[in-house]
Formats: sequence, C-alpha cells, structure tokens
Amino acid sequence: MSCLFCKIVEGSIPSAGVYQDDECYAFADINPQAPVHVLVVPRKHIVSLAEAAADDRGLLGHLHWVAAEIARTKGLAKGYRVVVNIGEDGGQTVDHLHLHVLGGRPMHWPPG
Ligand code: 5GP
Repeated sequence: MSCLFCKIVEGSIPSAGVYQDDECYAFADINPQAPVHVLVVPRKHIVSLAEAAADDRGLLGHLHWVAAEIARTKGLAKGYRVVVNIGEDGGQTVDHLHLHVLGGRPMHWPPG
C-alpha cells in the first residue's frame, strides 16, 4: 500500500484526528491554509472525485455531512468552505479523494 492517506487512515502514519466513523476519517491538514483546515477522507481508496463510481454516491453524500458536522464542532457558525481538488489542473496533490474543510477567516472568491 503506497497511498499516503490510506496509511494515515489505518494509523501507520500519525495524524491529528478530529472525527472518525466506519466510512471516513478526518484529521488536521499538516499545512493549514486557514485557522481551521481539516481533511475528510473516505476509508475506501478512491483516487479522486472523477474516479468515484455510482455505488459511491451514498459515501459522497456522507462525506459532505461529516464536513458540516466538523464545521459545527469547530464553531464555524459564520461560514466556511468545502473544497475538493480534482486532478492536476484542479490542484490535487494526494491521489486519494478528500474534502478540505476551511474556516475561521473570511474566504476569497475566485479561488486561485
Ligand atoms: P490536495 O492538494 O490533494 O487537494 O490536498 C492534499 C492536502 O494534504 C494538502 O493540503 C496537504 O497539506 C495535506 N497533506 C499532505 N501530506 C500530509 C500529511 O502527511 N499529513 C497531513 N495531516 N496532511 C498532509
């Protein structure tokens, strides 16, 4: 198994966990871009949103619910951003699907 996020999910690489259940694990980003920056990662290895299958639709919805739950837990009542980078042009650097939950400061638009 060579996937970085698979290793984090199974615990062989340490991380600062903030949430976990049967389907996903969430942990603090090692290079935070906002006061709150959490990654929500499915336990199942899916390379990116582009590779998600029809059978993954329930999981994709669950990941978004978890993102909102983490935002509630972190007190992001004024708002936050959920980002999914996909592929090279999308800025994805780890090839295991993940949602970024960013908050604790005003966000800008358009993103870079
Ligand atoms: P991407 O660029 O693929 O959308 O996001 C990958 C994220 O993973 C980046 O924000 C990066 O800082 C984070 N990251 C990369 N390696 C590690 C690591 O070893 N531990 C943690 N906690 N985050 C990581």
